[in-house]
Amino acid sequence: MTDKEALREQHYNATVVGKIMVTPNMMILRVVADEPRQEFSAGQYTTLGLLGLEPRSANSDAEYKPAPPEKLIRRAYSIASARHETREFEFFVSQVKSGQLTPRLFALEVGQRLFLGKRIVGAFNLSDAPADKDILMIATGTGITPFISFLRSHVAQRPQSRMAVVQGASHQRDLGYYSELSFLRSTFPNFYYLPTLTDADSTWSGHRMWIEEMLEAGVIEKESGVALDPQRTHVYLCGNPAMVENVSAWLEEHAGYRKHSAKQEGELFVEEF
Ligand SMILES: Cc1cc2nc3c(=O)[nH]c(=O)nc-3n(C[C@H](O)[C@H](O)[C@H](O)COP(=O)(O)OP(=O)(O)OC[C@H]3O[C@@H](n4cnc5c(N)ncnc54)[C@H](O)[C@@H]3O)c2cc1C
Repeated sequence: MTDKEALREQHYNATVVGKIMVTPNMMILRVVADEPRQEFSAGQYTTLGLLGLEPRSANSDAEYKPAPPEKLIRRAYSIASARHETREFEFFVSQVKSGQLTPRLFALEVGQRLFLGKRIVGAFNLSDAPADKDILMIATGTGITPFISFLRSHVAQRPQSRMAVVQGASHQRDLGYYSELSFLRSTFPNFYYLPTLTDADSTWSGHRMWIEEMLEAGVIEKESGVALDPQRTHVYLCGNPAMVENVSAWLEEHAGYRKHSAKQEGELFVEEF
């Protein structure tokens, strides 16, 4: 066994079983663990890892900080799978071209090995959402991932609660899980899907506003039927830090939301990537 193979055997505990390129820089990665994990809560995350000796994708730039070959590079990733999955996990990953881990993840092929965290953790826990509240989920980019887990886990069990996803992106191809979300919209009367594109071409007939503009114009409440009222609706934000910051500030200032934290109960839950 070569040194490389020995290092891989020492660190890797999972196998790639699916890879779908959504765009050149966004992919859905499916991984099977050698050993089952515990049941988790929708919205939680685990870690993926690869050794520095692994190749980088052809579609990446030079590493901004070279990783030593024997180092296991690990990063956090939200799980898109339903919460009862214990063996096979789905991730939605965006490539940071000069980053350390993602170009190596993008070079993986089905059948190759990697590290998968043993624990599934995180306080951004949508499974805890009270059954009598409506749920508004707002995402950009791969921030849609915890909401996919929530919908796959719970949409059918909460017919009494209205749920809406607002998803912002530049172009239609960047709307991860667009087909699945559109299907859920047409299947569950209590679910509403509101995608919005800031740089859409003429084929797009949907919204073209920034999420902040949609809040300001009252579009989300009017179309989804979900009230921006902390007594009735819990709001979850995930994705781009600037979007999370702007939307949080708007909800706190204009709708009386309080950010949830370990120290203070609130109706606004945030996760930044
Ligand atoms: C709870 C949680 C959940 C997450 N879930 C997801 C998810 O579902 N999907 C997903 O895609 N990501 C997710 N992330 C982000 C993920 O953990 C990684 O941070 C991301 O994939 C980048 O990893 P990387 O090793 O490729 O980049 P890194 O090497 O860690 O680089 C990341 C950052 O380093 C800096 N950097 C990179 N290049 C340069 C440069 N040339 N010069 C200066 N600075 C530079 C930038 O700030 C860059 O954003 C999550 C993060 C957290 C905390």
